[in-house]
Amino acid sequence: MTEVLLATGNSHKLQEFEAILGHIFRFLSLKDFPDLPDIEETGQTFTENAIIKAETLSLYTGKDAIADDSGLVVEALDGQPGVHSARYAGKHGDDAGNRKLLLDNLSGVSLRSAYFECVIARARPGQETIFFSGRLMGKIGYAEEGENGFGYDSVFIPDGYSVTLAQLCPKDKNAISHRKLAIDQLLQSINHSG
Ligand code: IMP
Repeated sequence: MTEVLLATGNSHKLQEFEAILGHIFRFLSLKDFPDLPDIEETGQTFTENAIIKAETLSLYTGKDAIADDSGLVVEALDGQPGVHSARYAGKHGDDAGNRKLLLDNLSGVSLRSAYFECVIARARPGQETIFFSGRLMGKIGYAEEGENGFGYDSVFIPDGYSVTLAQLCPKDKNAISHRKLAIDQLLQSINHSG
């Protein structure tokens, strides 16, 4: 089974990848390489950041590396929080602070449309890097609802649903998520060319 280094320490993400690609790849995570330097996400887009992460990891380890970059794009906020989704309120990974700031910034705003985007890049030694993108369209609610998931799940209502992602069970979220849509494309590329 091919070993692939997945550029994440986030167990939610690792599970989503393993659920779809676990029969093809044995995933290693950043926890298996504790001496790697931190990779700065200096890109202006999800695609740039995913490519930077995958290529840097592949270069350092000599391995097949897969990285994703994802976030929330809100129409009424000119695309914010975008690539700053994880640190929107200032501190990296402050999910509760990020959600509060988002709801505050949308207070009194009736245009609620938004989408999650995920870009996945795969870098292999001696081969051209490839990447795939998935989007989940929806809208931002007026208050937090639900306990599941992470990040902005409790304020995001997917199109066609009347509940937030945090009110869906993980299996149902993973069936429609932006990450799932991007992983499916990666799977197709593997089925075509290995
Ligand atoms: P990154 O791809 O790990 O850099 O994640 C960026 C940020 O986007 C996360 O910290 C979350 O705030 C947000 N995000 C990405 N995907 C999701 C999701 O599936 N649900 C909720 N928030 C998400």
